[in-house]
Amino acid sequence: MSKEKKLNGTVIVTYRCNAQCTMCSRYKAPSRPEEEISIETIRKLPPMYFTNITGGEPFMRDDLEEIVEELSKLSDRIVISTNGFFTDRILKLTERFPKVGIRISIEGLEKTNNEIRGLPDGFNRGYETLKQLRARGMKDVGFGMTIQDRNAADLVPLYNLSDELGMEFATASLHNSFYFVENKNVIHDRPMVAAHFESLINEMLNSGSPKKWFRAYFNHGLINYIYGQKRLLPCDMAFDTFFIDPYGDVMPCNGTKEKKVMGNLNTQTWDELWNSEQADQVRAFVRHCDRNCWMIGSVSPAMHKYIMKPAAWVVAHKLKFWTKKKYSMYELQCCRDYRDGKLTKEMCDQCSTCDMLTDAEDGRTFSASVDR
Ligand code: SF4
Repeated sequence: MSKEKKLNGTVIVTYRCNAQCTMCSRYKAPSRPEEEISIETIRKLPPMYFTNITGGEPFMRDDLEEIVEELSKLSDRIVISTNGFFTDRILKLTERFPKVGIRISIEGLEKTNNEIRGLPDGFNRGYETLKQLRARGMKDVGFGMTIQDRNAADLVPLYNLSDELGMEFATASLHNSFYFVENKNVIHDRPMVAAHFESLINEMLNSGSPKKWFRAYFNHGLINYIYGQKRLLPCDMAFDTFFIDPYGDVMPCNGTKEKKVMGNLNTQTWDELWNSEQADQVRAFVRHCDRNCWMIGSVSPAMHKYIMKPAAWVVAHKLKFWTKKKYSMYELQCCRDYRDGKLTKEMCDQCSTCDMLTDAEDGRTFSASVDR
């Protein structure tokens, strides 16, 4: 790899978590503090144009500020994903690193959020953290929400709340993978959930923000995903994007059923592992991967790389808006087929990321083979 080429990286600094989310069992398979990725290993990472720090809950690590300091030397932009519970730690870190972005996962309005995340007073703690960050002039601050049956009705109200506060609003839907230690996540009432996405898409398209118009496209892709359809854009993970886990294993993504490992940065140099045969085997797997997941970590690089497709979608839908026509989920063949009985719930439930009949992996074992 040329030293000049900057990558998109996600650093999973810990698998410890203080929340107990219904859609993520990672808290049941935490990493031990003494085995978590060290500052020495972090120093071996390549130059990056974007780095997401995630977990587990990243603020469980006592040395997160040191980690951010090292990553600041390597990366043009850093965003930390957190549940926002440790307000004081977050405020302290952002005082020292005001350019760092913070995304706080909030799964709905107060009652729904606290039920889903299993964090006592989690909504108020997260919301308070967001407000305090805003009050201190932090610009790169926002919500992240994972949409499922029980919180779909809160989608647009939460978007409006984030809009009022001038914050970013990131969405996801349920996925199963080794990372979440989950195989039972599934959307049950797809038309209901899709209808809430449709409302969100129309709100975003109706805004004056080009960034939100492209977010609308991402949410259009989420409707397509929950019906188990082929990804709207190719997946190029492991080519110019990587994940690294608390054990130093470098992976293409967090969406696979079993952990796929390109190499280990505790024992190898970056160039050794990135140019290894094992890394090429993982890239071959990615080329044939049929999981069709649609998470921002893999879709954002694809949207930049294949910009013409989302751009054409945005232009077509902005033109529609000027003629007073709105976006409809029935633009997607899968939604029409479901409505017309040609695609059934059972068929969608067989979609590739539902792994309903398999054991959940916890990411301590791994495979570099091309099997899913
Ligand atoms: S489609 Fe496959 S390779 Fe791409 S992010 Fe999903 S699981 Fe990973």
